[in-house]
Amino acid sequence: MTAKRMLMNKVALIYSEDFKKLDFGYGHPMRGDRYEKALREFEKMNLMDRLLMDKPDAVSEDILNLFHTPDYIKKVQEVSRTGSGSFGEEVPGFKGIYDIALLSVSASVTAADHIAGNDLCDVAVNICGGWHHAFENKGRGFCIFNDIAVAANYLLKRKNIKKIMIVDYDAHHGDGTQRAFYNCSSIYTISFHQDPLTMYPFITGYEKEAGEGAGEGFNKNFSLSPLCDDDEFISKFDQLRLLIRDFVPEVLILQMGVDGSRECRISHMQLTQRAYDYASKLLMSLQKKYRYKILALGGGGFVHPMLGQNWGVQIRNFIEG
Ligand SMILES: [Zn+2]
Repeated sequence: MTAKRMLMNKVALIYSEDFKKLDFGYGHPMRGDRYEKALREFEKMNLMDRLLMDKPDAVSEDILNLFHTPDYIKKVQEVSRTGSGSFGEEVPGFKGIYDIALLSVSASVTAADHIAGNDLCDVAVNICGGWHHAFENKGRGFCIFNDIAVAANYLLKRKNIKKIMIVDYDAHHGDGTQRAFYNCSSIYTISFHQDPLTMYPFITGYEKEAGEGAGEGFNKNFSLSPLCDDDEFISKFDQLRLLIRDFVPEVLILQMGVDGSRECRISHMQLTQRAYDYASKLLMSLQKKYRYKILALGGGGFVHPMLGQNWGVQIRNFIEG
């Protein structure tokens, strides 16, 4: 074993061939082939033999109750059975939608087990996760269940984790996650995104939203200019140094959406791989200092091979530290 190999971080990738079933159909940006296409890029980058691969554990409906309302879960099950209906904004229903949505959540929970269970990893990744727009009672913005909120509550309530920071650099505001923990001081939610005056979800994501009640001071939004470039992103992202120093999370959940890439036309942002490389390196250097675990979940990004390459560069940084 070389010295370099010994120094590598232990990084788990939770993956299932069935992720491809999460497909909203012809013409929708969220296509089922994005996960295997990303995996092919990881292979080209020689990442696969450096990762601990695992499949999602089977979980029951019970896990969804950690965040979602019983009525909403029932509604998704019903649409899944009949294959007709939808959940509102940009979430068309299809046959089997419940099973694949549950699989996606279970992959995030399995990843959480890898950083908070017995077989401890430094980082665990689920690229079929990061569904930050879903509310407790509603699917929104391509998101059926909010695996971030479920995993955060799972860590808090079942794994005895006391302090979690959620960092979201998808181009869109992480509104479902903000709403989930707006009154909570144990979970600090931070989102970097294109100015919501110019993009979905429009109504939230402004810098004045700072949390309420016990959660006051534990929510932070960085509203980036519509044509945000690497330099602007990096200068804002650097502010995390102080936020992490002051909060000292035990677990950092990362929503690593890469739809702020200049190649992805769903946003106007102009980021290149340099931004994602910088962000993930910074999180790893701070991890050494503050010793938190990282749960890295997917998110937006709808152009290939950009998606796999930009996720891949982050995963490589997780491995190499
Ligand atoms: Zn997005």
